[in-house]
Amino acid sequence: MTQITSGFDWTFDVNCRICGNNKELRRHQAREMMFGTRESFLYLECQKCGCLQIADFPDDMARHYPPEYYAQQDEDTFPAVVHFLLRRRDRYAFTGRGWLDRWINSILANPALSSLSQIQLAPETRILDLGCGRGALLKSLQRLGFTHLEGADPFNADDLSYPGGLKIHKAELCDLAGKWDLIMLHHVFEHLAAPLKTLHDIYARLTPSGTCLIRIPLVSSQAWQDYGVDWGQLDAPRHFFLHTPESIRRLAATAGFTIREIVYDSNSFQFWSSELYRTDTPLQQVRGSRTFFKHFPLKTLHAYAKKAKKLNRLGRGDQAAFYLEKTAWPHRENPLRQFPAGRPPLTYVATSVPAAGWWARSPFHQPPARAQHARTQ
Ligand SMILES: [Zn+2]
Repeated sequence: MTQITSGFDWTFDVNCRICGNNKELRRHQAREMMFGTRESFLYLECQKCGCLQIADFPDDMARHYPPEYYAQQDEDTFPAVVHFLLRRRDRYAFTGRGWLDRWINSILANPALSSLSQIQLAPETRILDLGCGRGALLKSLQRLGFTHLEGADPFNADDLSYPGGLKIHKAELCDLAGKWDLIMLHHVFEHLAAPLKTLHDIYARLTPSGTCLIRIPLVSSQAWQDYGVDWGQLDAPRHFFLHTPESIRRLAATAGFTIREIVYDSNSFQFWSSELYRTDTPLQQVRGSRTFFKHFPLKTLHAYAKKAKKLNRLGRGDQAAFYLEKTAWPHRENPLRQFPAGRPPLTYVATSVPAAGWWARSPFHQPPARAQHARTQ
């Protein structure tokens, strides 16, 4: 795996980790451009399921997650006025009400919270946020009145406890015991080296009617086609898997899930980050700096946002929310609960209807074991 040219791999010694395909894996060399180390990493694009995946997992990933990476997400350091605005934004993202809150939300959008408005939730819904960092999203949910919230992030320095009972465990999912109605991963899944194992672990901890929400960047996007390895959300080497709806469908099905819904929620980031990489400019050099608006005037950003909305409508945006539910049949826990009312599968009817009429008299019918025992006495 040392060859660094782009093109097709015809050696048949590499398999797609999602679908097992070992033919026509297209090679791409992508550079680290968030911090601008410009190190090059080989990615393989499967021509069958479409998944783009890193060829070799780097041994020293901690090096690619410096403190600045996490500092971007820390709301604790924001001034009080920003907290006020965030509260108003969150309320709008969830309720869709209030003109002032709507205006705030248009500037400081919170797509993670908006993605939850697609799910039926109650204050007591048990929610687990995986890879939640310091729990910014969970704190937003707590402010909105949710009472059963937990988070997990193995990369935190320690366990975290907030007033009101909100707990963030420094733990992997496989180390957590419990059941949740909603398990969610917001731009975390693409960082995981063993996504299928994670889905199996989620399945075991999700209630029968629960939802698994996965928000990820997508390689089935126009941005990947237009920008190639300069696409901002490729984010080498931190993103191990860049999925397509098909590769997610395959993974989900193997773990016992069905995709209930896909909602595209890409934004202007896909264009401005890619434009920076195309001109060899690291993201951190421009994001949040005074020169940002010199690179991207408001008019340009507005045009990007409009283009993103259009691509989302066409299913070509560069990120989406996948809503997974447990597959109805075959089911490992409680099949009866999973069927839509009045539509149980035939196999279920044949083994569970009370023995009566022609069925009880047929030669295929075996009386229940207890009844047989009673007759022999
Ligand atoms: Zn594949």
